Amino acid sequence: MLLKERYQAFVDHFSKYQPNAETELHYTNPYELLVAVILSAQCTDKRINQVTPKLFIRFPDVHQLAKASSDEVFEYIRSVSYPNNKAKHLVGMAQKLVHEFGAEVPSTIEDLQKLPGVGRKTANVIASVIYQAPAMAVDTHVFRVARRLGLCTNAKTPLAVEKQLVKYLPEDKIHVAHHWLILHGRYTCLARSPKCEQCPLSWFCKYYQQQHTESALLKAEKAKLRKLEALKKKKTAKKNGRILKKKSIKS
Ligand code: SF4
Repeated sequence: MLLKERYQAFVDHFSKYQPNAETELHYTNPYELLVAVILSAQCTDKRINQVTPKLFIRFPDVHQLAKASSDEVFEYIRSVSYPNNKAKHLVGMAQKLVHEFGAEVPSTIEDLQKLPGVGRKTANVIASVIYQAPAMAVDTHVFRVARRLGLCTNAKTPLAVEKQLVKYLPEDKIHVAHHWLILHGRYTCLARSPKCEQCPLSWFCKYYQQQHTESALLKAEKAKLRKLEALKKKKTAKKNGRILKKKSIKS
């Protein structure tokens, strides 16, 4: 299957069945999404959605968060991963937004990355979710699923995966394809035990085809070994039979 056809199959499937896929993080405006995405690094969306309602009531906008101490923010986010660092990042991010960006969430990856706690992945999420920019955030699910499906070849790093996806996906689908890959990785193409038997993409999935080819080869190899073993046993039995016959003639 050509790479182009593989991408076409991927886009066709999700355009039909999940045309409006979106983030599972709860937010009502760019400020809340930025906070939620910063918090979600190395943590689950489910956990973040448990802490953000109270956090957003106490700090309803970037101005309130900019005035907070990281100790106070920590109390609201203590159950997420790395709460100390994230509390400092949130306050630092809010202060920078207020002082350098007119309290608006910037739209370019470059500006977003100037904010504390915002790396390339977070910047790509914000740019694609809020501004529908053709940016691909590569998290662990995107990295795994894109490689398994064969959408990327020899891509060993998140950046390499990002570049290939951005290169081959239709530009207007890049922002939604990010969610397709994440959701597929979260619910079907699980890291340890992918649910291949119920996956609608198995017919063009490279990983699935490899697994099947490997298991078919393994089966054929085992059958060959069993045949050789049986042949060997037959020969030994025949030989033993001849020896016994000779002995009985002699006696
Ligand atoms: S067939 Fe299996 S490995 Fe391939 S995308 Fe589906 S679940 Fe993942």
